[in-house]
Amino acid sequence: MNAPAIELAPPDIARWRAGNTGVDYVHAFDAGVPGPRVMVQALTHGNEICGAIALDWLLASAFRPRCGRLVVAFANVAAYERFDASNPYAARFVDEDLNRVWADDVLLGARESRELRRARQLRPFVDASELLLDIHSMSEPCAALMVCGTQDKNAAFARALGVPEVLLLDTGHPGGLRMVERGGYGQAASPKRALLVECGQHWERSAADVALDTLVRFLGLAGVADAEWVGAHTRLEPPPRQRLVRVTQAVVARTPQFRFLVPTAGLSVVARAGTPIAVDGERTIVTPYDDTVLVMPGTNNLQPGGTAVRLGRFE
Ligand SMILES: [Zn+2]
Repeated sequence: MNAPAIELAPPDIARWRAGNTGVDYVHAFDAGVPGPRVMVQALTHGNEICGAIALDWLLASAFRPRCGRLVVAFANVAAYERFDASNPYAARFVDEDLNRVWADDVLLGARESRELRRARQLRPFVDASELLLDIHSMSEPCAALMVCGTQDKNAAFARALGVPEVLLLDTGHPGGLRMVERGGYGQAASPKRALLVECGQHWERSAADVALDTLVRFLGLAGVADAEWVGAHTRLEPPPRQRLVRVTQAVVARTPQFRFLVPTAGLSVVARAGTPIAVDGERTIVTPYDDTVLVMPGTNNLQPGGTAVRLGRFE
C-alpha cells in the first residue's frame, strides 16, 4: 500500500454538534418562502475530509437559503473523530460502511451498528428532501467524478450542474444500497434528484476546492442560492464538456490477494476485450469489451467483499 500525502487538515466541527433539528450535526434552515427541499451531506465516510471542509465553510459563512429548506449534515462523525493521519484509511467507518445501509430491509430491520443508528437518525432528512448532494472522495488519485447512481435523470441533473468533467452511471454496489439510490432518488419516475461527488483523492488539497465549488454550484442549481452568491464563491472553471461513463459491472474482491495487473491510474482505458486486468486468488479478471474504462480501481484498504474496480464505457 502506498502512503498518500495528507495535504488537508480535518476541520474541528465540534462547534456544529448542536444543530437546530434535535439531531447532532444536522442543521436545517427554512427560508419561510416556498421552494425546494435540499440536503447536502459530508462525512458519509469518516476519512473524506474535503466535504467536511466545504460544509464547515458553508455553516461558518452563515449562508441561508433564499427559498425552500436546506439541510446540512455531517454524517459519520463517530468515524471522523477517529481520523488519524498516521492511519488515515481506518476512519472510513466504525462498524460498517454507512453508504451500504439505505435499503428499507436493512435500515428498518433489527440489526444494530453505529452506522445503522446514525443512518436511522439521518433518514427523515434524506426522505423529506428532494435534491441531495453527498460529498465524497476517493482512496486513489483520480480526476473528480460525479456518481449519478443508476438513474439517467441524475446524469441529466449533473449536466445541468456543469461539473465535474466525468459523470458516472453505475449498477449500484453489491454490498448494499447507497443513500443516493434510496426511495425516489433511485426511481426514474420520481422528481427527486441525488448526486454523489467524488472530489479526488481523499487528502489532496484540490479535493477541498472541488468539494466547495461543487457545493456552491449545487446550491445555485437547486435554486436556494442566487447567481450572485454562486458567482462570488465558485473556484474552478467548469470543463468545456462533460463525458459520461456507463458502468456495466462492479468487480468485487473475493480474497485478500486481489491485485491489479495493469496500471490503476484514474480512469484508464484498456483497448482490447479479454485483457487480463487483475487476479484474485485463482480467478483472473479480464476486460469484457474493447475500450473498457477502469473506474476507481484500487487496492488501498480493499477487503474481500469490497469493490476493487468498476468497469464501464464512455458514451
Ligand atoms: Zn466515500
